[in-house]
Parts: sequence; C-alpha cells; structure tokens
Amino acid sequence: MPEGKEKKDRGWTEVHSEECKGCGLCIEACPVCGMHLSDKLNGRGYHFGEYQGHGCTGCGVCFYACPEPGAITVFKN
Ligand code: SF4
Ligand code: SF4
Repeated sequence: MPEGKEKKDRGWTEVHSEECKGCGLCIEACPVCGMHLSDKLNGRGYHFGEYQGHGCTGCGVCFYACPEPGAITVFKN
C-alpha cells in the first residue's frame, strides 16, 4: 500500500436523524465503537445517533439493534 494511503473501510453507516429516538442501542451494539450521539437535537428533540465517520465494517449490527425502522442504513464497500 502506498505511503500516506489509509486502508479503505469495509462499510459506512447513515442515520436518518428525524427517525431516531436517541435510545443509544446502536452505540452499545457497534463492535468497533463507530456510533455516537450527536450534540445536536433532531426535530423531535432527541440527540440522534451519528456515524463517527471511520472504522465501519458494514456488519449491520447497528441496523438490527435499532428499534426504529428506517433510522439506519448500512452500506458496504
Ligand atoms: S455496520 Fe457494524 S461496524 Fe458499521 S457502524 Fe454499524 S455496527 Fe458499527
Ligand atoms: S438505535 Fe436507532 S433510534 Fe436508537 S440511537 Fe441508534 S439510530 Fe437512534
């Protein structure tokens, strides 16, 4: 691998913030600590889950842990 090039993550995650109720289950479930709660509030007054931007493996555990249908989408590279 060329110097200065980081290994590409195997996946990434998007949280649809208005669907999130801020329960934190995705944060507890992620095996690589890839999620956190935002400092910001969504329109319903919840601190929403956010992908931290690196390290995702695309495993989908956060998706299955989330009780809100449609709050999380996981992508695989
Ligand atoms: S897909 Fe897996 S690694 Fe990626 S944020 Fe969700 S639980 Fe974490
Ligand atoms: S598990 Fe779902 S509802 Fe709970 S904080 Fe994560 S994205 Fe939001």
